Amino acid sequence: YRNTVIAANWKMNMLPSKIKAYAEELKPLAAPAKWCDIVICPPFVMIPAAQKAFRDSRISIGAQNLNENESGAYTGEVSSEQLSDLGAHYVIIGHSERRQLFGETDITVNKKVHAALQANLRPIVCVGETAQQREMNVTEELVTLQLKAALAGVPATKMRRIVVAYEPIWAIGTGNTATAADAEAVAASIRAVIRGLYGARTARAISILYGGSMNAKNAFELLSQPDVDGGLIGGASLVPADFAAIINAAN
Ligand code: 13P
Repeated sequence: YRNTVIAANWKMNMLPSKIKAYAEELKPLAAPAKWCDIVICPPFVMIPAAQKAFRDSRISIGAQNLNENESGAYTGEVSSEQLSDLGAHYVIIGHSERRQLFGETDITVNKKVHAALQANLRPIVCVGETAQQREMNVTEELVTLQLKAALAGVPATKMRRIVVAYEPIWAIGTGNTATAADAEAVAASIRAVIRGLYGARTARAISILYGGSMNAKNAFELLSQPDVDGGLIGGASLVPADFAAIINAAN
């Protein structure tokens, strides 16, 4: 079957000097959640400190982005091989903030997915609609297009390494969480797209996360939905007790 994945996206928050205290607080609180994959995605510069602080736990480290090229003259960029050499296991790809603020397109997202798989990183592929797109009733079509573009050329044998995160843009950082029914409807449509592309067995094995103002209060209901297999958490992941409450709600 598929794993529950609870991932923290710290975005451009936290400080290297604060990671140890965060980890010492989170580790015991998260310890009961033995079956759930927990991932912390700090900014690049904090990955080594995070790796060290969580080394004695089953919490994995991920990055928030990567460059699609293997190596070379790309000043300021970080490659998939560099991340995997540091011990990162996951990488968030195509977050709406990357798409909206840093010009990422479906094409760069697809290249990044391939770069991540090449280095044995697990891509957390983000898709999601704007408020306007939801109003226009094109959410599922849009998410389908984003997903198909992101997965173009990904062979069936690599699909089990992919995690998909459905993050409605209007729900990110706004406190406007999607209803559990809306999150489920889009997650189910994502699974149907994967089923169409790769078959039922692969579709059943892929973890689909919800992201967008998930917190200790609403996590249980969202995570209880049959096609919602975890969460990608921004704001609430910055406080260990809040993040741990979400992890334990995945029970
Ligand atoms: P918030 O949980 O702060 O809404 O952020 C969600 C998100 O964008 C995670 O990637």
